[in-house]
Amino acid sequence: MEKKDKFIRNKEKSIQQLRFTIQILFSILCIWIGVEFSQFIKFLETNGISGSDYRPPGVEGFLPISALMSVYYFFQSGIIHSVHPAGFFIFIAIVGVSLLFRKSFCSWLCPVGFISELVGDFGDKIAKKLFKRRIKIWKYLDYFFRSLKYLLLAFFAFSIFSMSQLALAYFLGGDYNIMADVKMYYFFANISQTALIVIGVLFLLSIIYRNFWCRYLCPYGALLGLLGFLSPTKIKRNTSTCIDCSLCAKACPSFIKVDKVITVNSDECTSCLNCVDVCPVENTLDLKLIGSDKKINKKFVAYGVVLIFIAITGLGMLTGNWQNKIPKELYIELHKNINNLGHPTSSSDIQKLNEESERNAK
Ligand code: SF4
Ligand code: SF4
Repeated sequence: MEKKDKFIRNKEKSIQQLRFTIQILFSILCIWIGVEFSQFIKFLETNGISGSDYRPPGVEGFLPISALMSVYYFFQSGIIHSVHPAGFFIFIAIVGVSLLFRKSFCSWLCPVGFISELVGDFGDKIAKKLFKRRIKIWKYLDYFFRSLKYLLLAFFAFSIFSMSQLALAYFLGGDYNIMADVKMYYFFANISQTALIVIGVLFLLSIIYRNFWCRYLCPYGALLGLLGFLSPTKIKRNTSTCIDCSLCAKACPSFIKVDKVITVNSDECTSCLNCVDVCPVENTLDLKLIGSDKKINKKFVAYGVVLIFIAITGLGMLTGNWQNKIPKELYIELHKNINNLGHPTSSSDIQKLNEESERNAK
Protein backbone atom coordinates (compact mmCIF):
# COMPACT_ATOMS: atom_id res chain seq x y z
CA MET A 1 0.00 0.00 0.00
CA GLU A 2 1.23 3.55 -0.81
CA LYS A 3 2.35 5.61 2.18
CA LYS A 4 -0.15 8.26 1.06
CA ASP A 5 -3.07 5.88 1.56
CA LYS A 6 -2.29 4.82 5.08
CA PHE A 7 -0.98 7.96 6.76
CA ILE A 8 -2.33 9.00 10.14
CA ARG A 9 -3.57 12.57 10.03
CA ASN A 10 -1.74 15.01 12.26
CA LYS A 11 -4.35 16.42 14.65
CA GLU A 12 -1.98 18.48 16.80
CA LYS A 13 -3.01 22.10 17.29
CA SER A 14 -0.98 24.74 15.49
CA ILE A 15 1.30 26.90 17.63
CA GLN A 16 1.25 29.84 15.20
CA GLN A 17 -1.55 31.71 16.99
CA LEU A 18 0.45 31.65 20.23
CA ARG A 19 3.62 32.69 18.39
CA PHE A 20 1.74 35.61 16.83
CA THR A 21 0.43 36.65 20.27
CA ILE A 22 3.95 36.58 21.75
CA GLN A 23 5.27 38.62 18.82
CA ILE A 24 2.51 41.22 19.29
CA LEU A 25 3.09 41.46 23.05
CA PHE A 26 6.84 41.87 22.63
CA SER A 27 6.32 44.52 19.95
CA ILE A 28 3.93 46.42 22.25
CA LEU A 29 6.57 46.26 24.98
CA CYS A 30 9.13 47.76 22.57
CA ILE A 31 6.70 50.53 21.53
CA TRP A 32 6.02 51.24 25.21
CA ILE A 33 9.76 51.53 25.86
CA GLY A 34 9.96 53.94 22.91
CA VAL A 35 7.16 56.12 24.32
CA GLU A 36 8.79 56.24 27.75
CA PHE A 37 12.16 57.03 26.22
CA SER A 38 10.67 59.90 24.20
CA GLN A 39 9.49 61.40 27.51
CA PHE A 40 13.03 61.09 28.85
CA ILE A 41 14.34 62.87 25.74
CA LYS A 42 11.83 65.66 26.41
CA PHE A 43 13.21 65.84 29.95
CA LEU A 44 16.73 66.31 28.55
CA GLU A 45 15.64 68.85 25.93
CA THR A 46 13.86 71.02 28.50
CA ASN A 47 16.68 70.79 31.08
CA GLY A 48 14.45 68.73 33.36
CA ILE A 49 11.44 71.07 33.28
CA SER A 50 9.03 68.73 31.52
CA GLY A 51 8.95 65.13 30.32
CA SER A 52 9.98 62.33 32.64
CA ASP A 53 13.30 61.64 34.35
CA TYR A 54 12.64 57.91 34.05
CA ARG A 55 14.92 56.34 31.44
CA PRO A 56 13.58 52.87 30.49
CA PRO A 57 16.53 50.43 30.72
CA GLY A 58 14.93 48.24 28.03
CA VAL A 59 16.07 50.81 25.45
CA GLU A 60 19.56 49.30 25.84
CA GLY A 61 18.29 46.22 24.01
CA PHE A 62 18.58 48.32 20.85
CA LEU A 63 22.32 48.82 21.37
CA PRO A 64 23.68 45.39 20.39
CA ILE A 65 27.22 46.55 19.59
CA SER A 66 27.61 48.24 22.96
CA ALA A 67 26.17 45.07 24.55
CA LEU A 68 28.65 42.84 22.73
CA MET A 69 31.47 45.09 23.98
CA SER A 70 30.05 44.82 27.48
CA VAL A 71 30.00 41.03 27.25
CA TYR A 72 33.58 40.94 25.97
CA TYR A 73 34.59 43.32 28.75
CA PHE A 74 32.90 41.01 31.26
CA PHE A 75 34.91 38.03 29.94
CA GLN A 76 38.10 40.04 30.30
CA SER A 77 37.47 41.65 33.67
CA GLY A 78 34.67 39.69 35.37
CA ILE A 79 32.81 43.02 35.77
CA ILE A 80 29.42 43.97 34.32
CA HIS A 81 30.00 47.47 33.02
CA SER A 82 27.70 49.93 34.74
CA VAL A 83 26.73 52.20 31.81
CA HIS A 84 24.33 49.84 29.97
CA PRO A 85 23.81 46.90 32.36
CA ALA A 86 20.33 46.10 31.00
CA GLY A 87 21.80 45.84 27.48
CA PHE A 88 24.26 43.26 28.80
CA PHE A 89 21.48 41.07 30.24
CA ILE A 90 19.16 41.49 27.24
CA PHE A 91 22.02 40.40 24.98
CA ILE A 92 22.71 37.33 27.16
CA ALA A 93 18.97 36.53 27.16
CA ILE A 94 18.78 36.70 23.35
CA VAL A 95 21.87 34.51 23.05
CA GLY A 96 20.49 32.07 25.65
CA VAL A 97 17.15 31.71 23.85
CA SER A 98 18.90 31.13 20.53
CA LEU A 99 21.39 28.66 21.97
CA LEU A 100 18.55 26.44 23.15
CA PHE A 101 16.08 26.87 20.28
CA ARG A 102 18.26 27.94 17.36
CA LYS A 103 17.57 31.43 15.96
CA SER A 104 14.24 31.51 17.80
CA PHE A 105 14.66 35.12 18.94
CA CYS A 106 14.11 36.18 15.31
CA SER A 107 10.76 34.43 14.89
CA TRP A 108 9.33 34.64 18.41
CA LEU A 109 10.46 37.96 19.90
CA CYS A 110 12.28 40.33 17.55
CA PRO A 111 9.98 43.21 16.45
CA VAL A 112 11.96 43.70 13.23
CA GLY A 113 11.59 39.98 12.50
CA PHE A 114 7.87 40.32 13.17
CA ILE A 115 7.45 43.24 10.74
CA SER A 116 9.58 41.40 8.22
CA GLU A 117 7.32 38.35 8.55
CA LEU A 118 4.12 40.39 8.04
CA VAL A 119 5.60 42.17 5.05
CA GLY A 120 6.86 38.83 3.66
CA ASP A 121 3.41 37.24 4.05
CA PHE A 122 1.92 40.14 2.11
CA GLY A 123 4.60 39.83 -0.61
CA ASP A 124 4.09 36.07 -0.86
CA LYS A 125 0.35 36.53 -1.38
CA ILE A 126 0.96 38.93 -4.26
CA ALA A 127 3.63 36.67 -5.77
CA LYS A 128 1.35 33.62 -5.57
CA LYS A 129 -1.42 35.53 -7.33
CA LEU A 130 0.90 36.78 -10.05
CA PHE A 131 3.31 33.86 -10.50
CA LYS A 132 1.56 31.02 -8.63
CA ARG A 133 4.59 30.66 -6.34
CA ARG A 134 6.89 32.57 -3.96
CA ILE A 135 9.76 34.54 -5.43
CA LYS A 136 13.13 32.84 -5.04
CA ILE A 137 16.48 33.99 -6.26
CA TRP A 138 19.25 31.98 -7.92
CA LYS A 139 20.85 29.86 -5.20
CA TYR A 140 24.46 31.09 -5.74
CA LEU A 141 23.30 34.69 -5.61
CA ASP A 142 21.43 33.77 -2.42
CA TYR A 143 24.65 32.32 -0.92
CA PHE A 144 26.53 35.47 -1.89
CA PHE A 145 23.94 37.78 -0.31
CA ARG A 146 23.69 35.61 2.81
CA SER A 147 27.43 35.99 3.31
CA LEU A 148 27.00 39.79 3.65
CA LYS A 149 25.55 39.60 7.16
CA TYR A 150 28.48 37.40 8.22
CA LEU A 151 30.92 39.93 6.77
CA LEU A 152 29.22 42.67 8.77
CA LEU A 153 29.36 40.49 11.89
CA ALA A 154 33.06 39.74 11.24
CA PHE A 155 33.75 43.46 10.90
CA PHE A 156 32.08 44.27 14.25
CA ALA A 157 33.66 41.25 15.96
CA PHE A 158 37.13 42.14 14.66
CA SER A 159 36.75 45.78 15.74
CA ILE A 160 35.58 44.79 19.22
CA PHE A 161 37.92 41.86 19.83
CA SER A 162 40.94 43.95 18.84
CA MET A 163 40.29 46.31 21.76
CA SER A 164 42.22 45.95 24.97
CA GLN A 165 40.40 45.73 28.30
CA LEU A 166 41.44 49.31 29.05
CA ALA A 167 40.19 50.57 25.70
CA LEU A 168 36.87 48.78 26.23
CA ALA A 169 36.46 50.34 29.67
CA TYR A 170 37.38 53.72 28.21
CA PHE A 171 34.82 53.41 25.41
CA LEU A 172 32.05 51.89 27.54
CA GLY A 173 32.41 54.60 30.18
CA GLY A 174 32.80 57.37 27.60
CA ASP A 175 30.34 60.12 26.73
CA TYR A 176 29.47 58.60 23.37
CA ASN A 177 28.42 55.27 24.86
CA ILE A 178 26.45 56.95 27.66
CA MET A 179 24.47 58.87 25.06
CA ALA A 180 24.33 56.12 22.39
CA ASP A 181 20.62 55.47 23.00
CA VAL A 182 19.82 59.19 22.81
CA LYS A 183 21.77 59.47 19.56
CA MET A 184 19.90 56.45 18.20
CA TYR A 185 16.62 58.15 19.12
CA TYR A 186 17.59 61.27 17.16
CA PHE A 187 18.71 59.17 14.21
CA PHE A 188 15.13 57.92 13.83
CA ALA A 189 13.32 61.05 15.08
CA ASN A 190 15.21 63.33 12.66
CA ILE A 191 15.75 60.76 9.99
CA SER A 192 17.75 61.97 7.01
CA GLN A 193 16.49 61.65 3.46
CA THR A 194 19.22 59.13 2.66
CA ALA A 195 18.36 56.91 5.64
CA LEU A 196 14.67 57.12 4.75
CA ILE A 197 15.40 56.05 1.16
CA VAL A 198 17.55 53.13 2.41
CA ILE A 199 14.78 51.98 4.81
CA GLY A 200 12.18 52.39 2.05
CA VAL A 201 14.27 50.31 -0.37
CA LEU A 202 14.77 47.58 2.27
CA PHE A 203 11.03 47.60 2.93
CA LEU A 204 10.24 47.19 -0.76
CA LEU A 205 12.86 44.46 -1.16
CA SER A 206 11.31 42.63 1.83
CA ILE A 207 7.95 42.63 0.03
CA ILE A 208 9.51 41.27 -3.16
CA TYR A 209 11.85 38.85 -1.43
CA ARG A 210 10.85 37.51 1.95
CA ASN A 211 12.98 38.50 4.98
CA PHE A 212 15.45 40.49 2.86
CA TRP A 213 16.91 42.41 5.81
CA CYS A 214 17.00 39.44 8.21
CA ARG A 215 18.31 36.94 5.66
CA TYR A 216 21.02 39.08 4.07
CA LEU A 217 21.99 42.01 6.22
CA CYS A 218 21.25 41.61 9.93
CA PRO A 219 24.53 40.90 11.78
CA TYR A 220 22.60 40.06 14.97
CA GLY A 221 20.76 37.32 13.06
CA ALA A 222 24.13 36.12 11.71
CA LEU A 223 25.46 35.72 15.24
CA LEU A 224 22.31 33.88 16.37
CA GLY A 225 22.42 31.67 13.28
CA LEU A 226 25.99 30.61 14.14
CA LEU A 227 25.02 29.95 17.75
CA GLY A 228 22.12 27.85 16.41
CA PHE A 229 24.66 25.25 15.26
CA LEU A 230 25.38 24.62 18.94
CA SER A 231 21.71 24.19 19.76
CA PRO A 232 20.65 20.81 21.16
CA THR A 233 17.28 21.04 19.34
CA LYS A 234 16.67 20.38 15.65
CA ILE A 235 13.74 19.85 13.28
CA LYS A 236 13.78 16.18 12.25
CA ARG A 237 11.83 14.39 9.49
CA ASN A 238 10.78 10.79 9.73
CA THR A 239 11.44 9.52 6.21
CA SER A 240 9.51 6.29 6.74
CA THR A 241 6.20 8.09 7.32
CA CYS A 242 6.78 11.21 5.17
CA ILE A 243 4.51 11.27 2.13
CA ASP A 244 6.69 13.77 0.22
CA CYS A 245 3.93 16.35 -0.05
CA SER A 246 6.46 19.24 0.27
CA LEU A 247 4.05 21.29 2.37
CA CYS A 248 6.80 21.83 4.98
CA ALA A 249 9.21 23.32 2.43
CA LYS A 250 6.49 25.54 0.98
CA ALA A 251 5.61 26.82 4.47
CA CYS A 252 9.18 27.51 5.57
CA PRO A 253 9.78 31.28 5.65
CA SER A 254 13.52 30.63 5.42
CA PHE A 255 13.24 28.65 2.14
CA ILE A 256 14.76 25.54 3.75
CA LYS A 257 14.15 22.33 1.80
CA VAL A 258 12.72 20.59 4.84
CA ASP A 259 11.22 17.85 2.66
CA LYS A 260 14.66 16.84 1.34
CA VAL A 261 16.60 16.47 4.58
CA ILE A 262 16.36 14.23 7.62
CA THR A 263 17.60 16.88 10.04
CA VAL A 264 17.40 20.64 9.47
CA ASN A 265 20.89 21.97 10.13
CA SER A 266 20.52 25.33 8.43
CA ASP A 267 21.73 28.54 10.09
CA GLU A 268 18.50 30.09 8.78
CA CYS A 269 16.14 27.91 10.84
CA THR A 270 14.38 30.09 13.41
CA SER A 271 12.34 27.35 15.15
CA CYS A 272 9.17 29.07 14.00
CA LEU A 273 7.56 25.60 13.73
CA ASN A 274 5.60 26.53 10.60
CA CYS A 275 6.81 23.34 8.92
CA VAL A 276 5.80 21.19 11.91
CA ASP A 277 2.34 22.77 11.93
CA VAL A 278 1.58 22.15 8.26
CA CYS A 279 2.87 18.57 8.13
CA PRO A 280 -0.26 16.45 7.58
CA VAL A 281 1.19 13.21 8.94
CA GLU A 282 1.37 12.46 12.64
CA ASN A 283 4.84 12.02 14.17
CA THR A 284 6.62 12.84 10.91
CA LEU A 285 8.10 16.30 11.40
CA ASP A 286 9.00 17.52 14.88
CA LEU A 287 11.46 19.51 16.90
CA LYS A 288 13.63 16.98 18.72
CA LEU A 289 16.66 16.84 20.95
CA ILE A 290 19.86 15.79 19.21
CA GLY A 291 20.51 12.10 19.79
CA SER A 292 16.97 11.44 20.95
CA ASP A 293 13.78 10.51 19.18
CA LYS A 294 11.59 12.22 21.75
CA LYS A 295 9.74 15.16 20.26
CA ILE A 296 9.64 18.50 22.05
CA ASN A 297 6.15 19.80 22.69
CA LYS A 298 5.49 22.96 20.67
CA LYS A 299 4.21 24.80 23.75
CA PHE A 300 7.50 24.00 25.47
CA VAL A 301 9.27 26.06 22.78
CA ALA A 302 6.82 28.96 23.18
CA TYR A 303 7.02 29.07 26.97
CA GLY A 304 10.73 28.21 26.91
CA VAL A 305 11.61 31.21 24.74
CA VAL A 306 9.56 33.61 26.88
CA LEU A 307 10.64 32.19 30.24
CA ILE A 308 14.36 32.10 29.42
CA PHE A 309 14.15 35.71 28.29
CA ILE A 310 12.28 36.76 31.44
CA ALA A 311 14.56 34.71 33.71
CA ILE A 312 17.81 36.20 32.39
CA THR A 313 16.59 39.79 32.25
CA GLY A 314 14.96 39.23 35.68
CA LEU A 315 18.36 38.15 37.01
CA GLY A 316 19.73 41.50 35.87
CA MET A 317 16.95 43.32 37.75
CA LEU A 318 17.31 41.23 40.90
CA THR A 319 21.08 41.69 41.07
CA GLY A 320 20.81 45.47 40.67
CA ASN A 321 22.27 45.38 37.15
CA TRP A 322 19.38 46.94 35.29
CA GLN A 323 18.86 50.67 35.74
CA ASN A 324 22.20 52.47 35.42
CA LYS A 325 23.25 54.92 38.11
CA ILE A 326 24.25 57.79 35.83
CA PRO A 327 23.00 61.07 37.36
CA LYS A 328 20.31 62.81 35.31
CA GLU A 329 22.31 66.06 35.62
CA LEU A 330 25.12 64.40 33.65
CA TYR A 331 22.63 63.31 30.98
CA ILE A 332 21.36 66.89 30.69
CA GLU A 333 24.92 68.21 30.47
CA LEU A 334 25.98 65.69 27.80
CA HIS A 335 22.77 66.31 25.87
CA LYS A 336 23.78 69.95 25.33
CA ASN A 337 26.76 68.69 23.34
CA ILE A 338 25.10 65.68 21.70
CA ASN A 339 25.89 66.64 18.11
CA ASN A 340 29.61 66.66 18.80
CA LEU A 341 29.77 63.17 20.28
CA GLY A 342 31.30 60.89 17.65
CA HIS A 343 31.74 57.16 17.32
CA PRO A 344 35.12 55.51 16.53
CA THR A 345 34.60 54.29 12.96
CA SER A 346 37.85 52.72 11.74
CA SER A 347 40.60 50.42 12.93
CA SER A 348 42.88 53.46 13.34
CA ASP A 349 40.20 54.96 15.64
CA ILE A 350 40.26 51.74 17.69
CA GLN A 351 44.06 51.89 17.76
CA LYS A 352 43.87 55.51 18.99
CA LEU A 353 41.33 54.44 21.62
CA ASN A 354 43.68 51.68 22.79
CA GLU A 355 46.60 54.15 23.02
CA GLU A 356 44.54 56.91 24.62
CA SER A 357 43.15 54.58 27.27
CA GLU A 358 46.64 53.31 28.10
CA ARG A 359 47.96 56.89 28.36
CA ASN A 360 45.10 57.85 30.68
CA ALA A 361 45.71 54.78 32.84
CA LYS A 362 49.32 55.82 33.53
S1 SF4 B 1 12.71 24.64 9.05
FE1 SF4 B 1 10.69 24.79 10.04
S2 SF4 B 1 11.16 25.69 12.04
FE2 SF4 B 1 12.94 26.06 10.74
S3 SF4 B 1 12.55 28.08 9.81
FE3 SF4 B 1 11.74 26.56 8.38
S4 SF4 B 1 9.58 26.38 8.96
FE4 SF4 B 1 10.59 27.40 10.67
S1 SF4 C 1 5.00 18.16 5.28
FE1 SF4 C 1 7.12 17.59 4.81
S2 SF4 C 1 7.68 16.08 6.37
FE2 SF4 C 1 5.43 16.26 6.41
S3 SF4 C 1 4.75 14.67 5.01
FE3 SF4 C 1 4.89 16.49 3.77
S4 SF4 C 1 7.01 16.43 2.92
FE4 SF4 C 1 6.92 14.94 4.60
